[in-house]
Order: sequence, then C-alpha cells, then structure tokens
Amino acid sequence: MPQEVSRAKAVAMLSGGLDSSLALALVLRQGIEVIGVNFSTGFCMTDHQRMIGRKDARPEKLRNEALRAGADLQVPVEIIDISTEYMEVLRRPRFGFGKNLNPCVDCRIFMLQKAREFMAEVGADFVFTGEVLGQRPKSQHRRAMRIIDAECGLGDRLVRPLSAKLLAPTWPEKVGILDRDQLKGFHGRDRNPQIELAEQLGVVDYPQPAGGCCYLTDANYARRVFDLLRDHDRTEVEQEDLLLCKVGRHFRLPRGGRLIVGRFEEENLFLDRFRSRHARLVATAHKGATALVSLRDGELPEAEDLEVAASVLARYGKGRGEARVVVELSAPDHETEIAVQPATPEACEAWILR
Ligand code: SF4
Repeated sequence: MPQEVSRAKAVAMLSGGLDSSLALALVLRQGIEVIGVNFSTGFCMTDHQRMIGRKDARPEKLRNEALRAGADLQVPVEIIDISTEYMEVLRRPRFGFGKNLNPCVDCRIFMLQKAREFMAEVGADFVFTGEVLGQRPKSQHRRAMRIIDAECGLGDRLVRPLSAKLLAPTWPEKVGILDRDQLKGFHGRDRNPQIELAEQLGVVDYPQPAGGCCYLTDANYARRVFDLLRDHDRTEVEQEDLLLCKVGRHFRLPRGGRLIVGRFEEENLFLDRFRSRHARLVATAHKGATALVSLRDGELPEAEDLEVAASVLARYGKGRGEARVVVELSAPDHETEIAVQPATPEACEAWILR
C-alpha cells in the first residue's frame, strides 16, 4: 500500500448544496481525512439576507449550508473571505461573463487557486469539488473544465468525485488513495441520480436548488450593476456600490440621479448605515421607507431629481394618500426638508429599474 494511504488528507470545496455534500460523503467513505473550505465572494444571497438581519418564517433558509453540511458529516469547515480580491475577478474576467454578471469560469479558477493555497497550508494531498460534468452551462462543460484545470494550478490534484468516471484519472486515483470504482459518473442536469445517492449515503438534510444563491447570476441584480456602470468606469466601482445594488427598489431619476428605496424594515435600517456617503431621505411625519440618493462627486444631484426622489419615497409610506408629505433630506453637509405630493404608481413605474 503506498505510504500516502495512511496520511491522505483532502480539502473539500464545500457549498453545502447536495452535490458538494455527496462528494464529501463519497470521499469520507474511503477513509480520507477531509477539511472543508467555503469561500465567501460577497455575492451569496443567503449571506446577504443574514447580514441585513432579515427574518424568515423558515429560519433554516438563512443558515450557512457549508457549516451545516460540515457539522452533519463531522468535518471541520473553514470560511474564507475572498470578497476584496474577488472584485478584481469581477472587474476583468478573462473568460467573460455568463448570461448576467457571472464570471463563472474566472470565478472557479480563482476559488480553486485559493483552494490550492489552502491545501498547501493545511498539508492536504488533493482538492475535490461537487461539480458535475455538463450540469452548468458556463463552467461545467468539458471545455470549460479543461480551461479551469489548466489555469487553477491544481493539475491532477483536483478531483470531481461525482463525475470522476467520465474524466481522466487524477493523482489520488492513480496512487491508490481513492478507489475510482467507488466514485461516480454523473453527467448533466438530471438530479435524480444525486437524490438516489443521497438516500444510499444517508445524506438527508440539504437545501433545495432554488435557482442559485449567487447574485451575479441574477438578471435583476445585473441590470442594476450595468445601470451603475453608466456613471462609473468598471475599475472605479467599489464593493459598497455593488452591495447597495442588492438592496431595495432602484430608480433612475429624470436628471440622471440614482435613488434606492428600502422595501422592508431591515432594508431601511441597512440603508441608514450609508447616510455618511449618500443623501438620506425619510418622511418626517409618516412611517415608511428610507431612501438613499447617490451623491455625484460629493455633491447633491439637481433639485428636480431631489424633488422626484422625495415624491417617490413618499409613495412608499403611510402618507401616500396625502396631498403633501414632508421629506427630510440629510446629506453630509446639507440638511433640508422638501414638501411634495406623493408620486403616482405610474410615475414610479416610469423611473424604476426593471
Ligand atoms: S454562480 Fe457565482 S459563485 Fe458560482 S461560479 Fe458563477 S460567479 Fe462563481
């Protein structure tokens, strides 16, 4: 038996979804020590909901699935924040975007490079993922996987246990650390084989696929970011700008200003945190939304935009039926009140970004 067998150790790229949980269970079944790693890009929808403190009737929807999967399978999981470095991936993806703002090929390469560093740090022998050949259009077809493999630097130390039988043997298979016969040959989008395998392996708790958890694949989010890029060069866009694209209703005002209106209490409180760099609007005497208007080079937008912004804000509050609503505007060097007639639904519709 090769010497490696006694000390085989692997890093699992773990999202906590069904596929990565199954890959983990398959590798653990072969007696290998595993450390899970989960990279936080800053674009996970569940992370965002948790961050703004959103309450949900089903609290399990807000849990961190990687930690949950690690706990279920008794594997330590490290969460690594790569969000700052990830901005560079997003600004200049070498392999382009998918249907929306998702640079999936570059994203996979970057995460696997990070996994390689982590593998070296913890003294592991290989990295594995829950990827399934042909499952995702942008990053899991054979050509994309070849590019990813060539670029990430892991070479044959990268294993995809769920599709291993359809791929070239990897180093752990060649040296006998992993028994290829116990790995799978899954292909495509049909999840039934995974569901059957989950039953066999006793993997019972996993999130239902809900169209992805990544903001970058969301058409609405992408529209907001592309609208933001009308005002900013791609290289100027900051994490904070992208963060605000996740929140509220977004409007493009008649003179070009940008307005964000909170949709529920947690979003209003969240928007409030950005008042030092934006103009904040709230109705003085009527409960309702909080809004932010973007400053331009530190200056307030034109008066017409401020008036429209105040009227839209008034529409999303208890004063929507009143003839006039007083809105308080506070910017870093400016405080004032604007009395407006609440906007009509048609007017809001004309300015909202869809
Ligand atoms: S969906 Fe998002 S997290 Fe997944 S590979 Fe694409 S960009 Fe990366």
